[in-house]
Amino acid sequence: MSSVPHITLNNGVSMPQLGFGVWQVPDDEAAATVARALEAGYRSIDTASAYQNEEGTGRAIAASGVPREEVFLTTKLWNSDQGYDATLRAFDASLARLGTEYVDLYLIHWPLPMFDRYVDTWRAFEKLYADGRVRAIGVSNFQPPHLQRLLDETSAVPVLNQVELHPQLQQEQLRTFHSAHEIATEAWSPLGQGKDILTDPVITGIGTKHGRTAAQVILRWHLQLGNVVIPKSVTPSRIQENIDVFGFELDAEDLAAIAGLETGTRLGPDPSTMDYTG
Ligand code: NAD
Repeated sequence: MSSVPHITLNNGVSMPQLGFGVWQVPDDEAAATVARALEAGYRSIDTASAYQNEEGTGRAIAASGVPREEVFLTTKLWNSDQGYDATLRAFDASLARLGTEYVDLYLIHWPLPMFDRYVDTWRAFEKLYADGRVRAIGVSNFQPPHLQRLLDETSAVPVLNQVELHPQLQQEQLRTFHSAHEIATEAWSPLGQGKDILTDPVITGIGTKHGRTAAQVILRWHLQLGNVVIPKSVTPSRIQENIDVFGFELDAEDLAAIAGLETGTRLGPDPSTMDYTG
C-alpha cells in the first residue's frame, strides 16, 4: 500500500496530500467506489452536498473498518445554502447524511460574489469551527478578491482553496497568493477530467521516460508543485494507478516542459460569474 504524504494546514491539522474525489459518482455506487478507494490506501475523501452522494460516502467509511479518525472527510456547502443561518442548517443536514459526528474539512463550494453572502457564510463556518464540529474550514473556487475580503473582514484564514487546476490551467497567480497567506492549494479536475491532456505528447513522452502513465505523470507534477490532489475514478485499476505515484520523481526538465502546457483553458465555470443556485 502506498504511503501518502501529509501537509500541515495553517491551523495545525494534518491532511493527506492525495485524496479521492467523488463528483458524478451516483449515491448507489458511492459506497462501493469509496470502499475500493479506502482499500487501495486513500485516506482522504472529497464529497459535497451538491454531489448527492454523501449518504453512500458515509456508509462506505462506516463499513470500511478504517477508524473514522484515520479518514480525512471533506464536504462542501452548496450555493443555495449560503448565508449565516442557512449554512448552519445545511451543515447539520450534511452531517446527518454522512452519518458522522464531524467533518475534517468544510468548504464554501463557490463564492457567488453577485449575491454577496460569502462573508456571512464564512462567519457561520467560523462558528462551526469554534464549536468543534469541523476540524478545518476552507473555500473553493475563490479568486484573490474574494479571499482578500475574508482576510480583511473576518478572523479565520481559510486553510485551503480548492480550485480547478491542471496542466492547461496552472493557476500560478492564485498559487502565489495562497503561498503568501498560508492557504494550501487543492486541485480539482487534477487530470483535466481525463480529456485531451492525457494524450498530450509532452505528458506521454515524460511517462515513457519514467515508465509511468500520463495520469501518474500529471499527479506527480501536482504533488511536486505542493498541490493537494483529489483525482476521481470509478475504475478499480485506475483507482490503484492514481495512488501509485510516490515511487518516482519528475526532474527539472519534465517540470519545465509541463509548465509550457498552460493554455488558460477552463473546463468548469468561471468563479467570478458562476451564479447557479439550483
Ligand atoms: P479528474 O481530473 O479527477 O478526472 C476524472 C476523470 O479522468 C475520470 O472520470 C476518468 O474519466 C479519467 N481518469 C481518472 N483516472 C484516470 C487514469 N488513471 N487514466 C485515464 N483516465 C483517468 O476530474 P474531476 O472528477 O472533475 O475532479 C476530481 C474531483 O475534484 C471531483 O471528483 C470532485 O471531488 C472535485 N471537484 C470539485 C469541484 C469544485 O467546484 N470544488 C469541481 C469539480 C471537481
